[in-house]
Amino acid sequence: MPDPLAVPGEVFGSRAKAEAGFPTSRALEAYRRLHRTGESNDTAVRAHLAPISDVRTETCDEGTITKFLMRLPAAPNQAPGLAGQELEIESVLIPMIGRKGVRTYTLCLSSQVGCAMACGFCETGQMGLIRSLTPSEIVGQWFAARHLLKHDVSNIVFMGMGEPLNNLDNVLAAIEVLKDHNGPAVTLSKITVSTVGLVDGLTRLAAKMHEPGWHRLGVAISLNAPNDRVRDEIMPVNWRWPLAALRDAVIAIPAYGGGKLCIEYVLIPGVNDRDEHAREIADFLRPINDAYLAGGRTSPRTLLNLIPYNPRRNSPWPAPTEEHTDRFLSLLRDLGIYAKRRRTKGRTMMGACGQLGNEQIRRRRLVDLSISAER
Ligand code: SF4
Repeated sequence: MPDPLAVPGEVFGSRAKAEAGFPTSRALEAYRRLHRTGESNDTAVRAHLAPISDVRTETCDEGTITKFLMRLPAAPNQAPGLAGQELEIESVLIPMIGRKGVRTYTLCLSSQVGCAMACGFCETGQMGLIRSLTPSEIVGQWFAARHLLKHDVSNIVFMGMGEPLNNLDNVLAAIEVLKDHNGPAVTLSKITVSTVGLVDGLTRLAAKMHEPGWHRLGVAISLNAPNDRVRDEIMPVNWRWPLAALRDAVIAIPAYGGGKLCIEYVLIPGVNDRDEHAREIADFLRPINDAYLAGGRTSPRTLLNLIPYNPRRNSPWPAPTEEHTDRFLSLLRDLGIYAKRRRTKGRTMMGACGQLGNEQIRRRRLVDLSISAER
C-alpha cells in the first residue's frame, strides 16, 4: 500500500490500485478519512504513521507551547557515524492570539535532522546535517500535531530543524500533500518556507511559485546581519551567496496577492545590534520595497520580524534586554521599516527559534560543511 503521507490523494488512489489492486475510489475515500479523522482500518496504511516519542509543554501568555519529538527509523543516507541509528525530530506547536482574541496554533516543522548551514547562533546548526527528511516524515509531523495531539493547526512554518531549501524536492512534495484538498487541506498562504538564503534554491522556489496552485506560498528570509562582514561571521551561507546576490534573488520572488515577505532578524548583543546596523538594514531592504512599490503597490513588501536572541547551549552571547530590543525596534521604525517584535516563546525547554537540537548528537560534529569547503 502506498504511503498516504507521501503523496496527494489522487496519486494515492491510482497507486493503491496499481500496487494493491484496491479500487481507486475506495482508496481515495480511505485517504480522505485518514487525513480528516486520523483513523484508518487498514493496517498497511497505519504502518506508515510514526508515533510521538516525547512531549514537553511550557506556558506562555498566549497559552501552551508544545514541543514534540518523533522517532525516525534508520535510513541509508545518514551521516557517517550514525548509520543504522534511530533519530529523533522535533516540532513545536506555538499558540497565537489573533486580532479577534481567537487562539490558533502555528506548527513549526523540521525539514532535516540537524542542519549543514552552521549558523553560529543556532542550536541545530551545531549538530551538522545528519540527514534530510522524506515528504512522509515532514507531513507526519502535521499528522501527529493534528491527530495525535489533537490541535487545530492554522499555520505551518518551516522554521524547525534544517534548511528547507537544502531539501527542496522533499519539502515541495510535502507541501503538495499538506495543501491537497483530499488531505490536510492547509491553505497555501498559511504555509511559510523560511530560508537562510540559498540563492539557487530561492530561484527554484520562485519558479515554482509562478506555477498555478503555488502563487501564495509564504517565504521568509533569515537575514540576521546588517552587512556582509557580520553575516560572514555568523552565517557561513553568506560566503557563497553574499547580501547583494541574496537581495537580487529576493526581488525575483513573485508577489501574488500582496502577502508580506518576512525578513527574520535575530538580535544578538554585541554582534548585530548597533544603531548603524539598523541603517544598514534599511539600505538592504529599500531596493526590495522600491521594486515592489514601483509595480503600483501602496504598502511595503517586507515585514521585518525582530527576534531577541535565545542563547543556545554554551552560547558566547547573552540574550538582549527588553529595553535594548524595544529601542532597536524603534530605530528600525524611525527609518521607515515596517517591523514587529516577535515575542520569545519556549525558551526554557529549548523549543524557541534556533534552539532545536540534540545535545548527544551535537557533541559528535559529524558532517563536513559543504558550504565552508567552497569558501
Ligand atoms: S538557523 Fe536554520 S539554517 Fe541556520 S543552522 Fe539553524 S536550522 Fe540551519
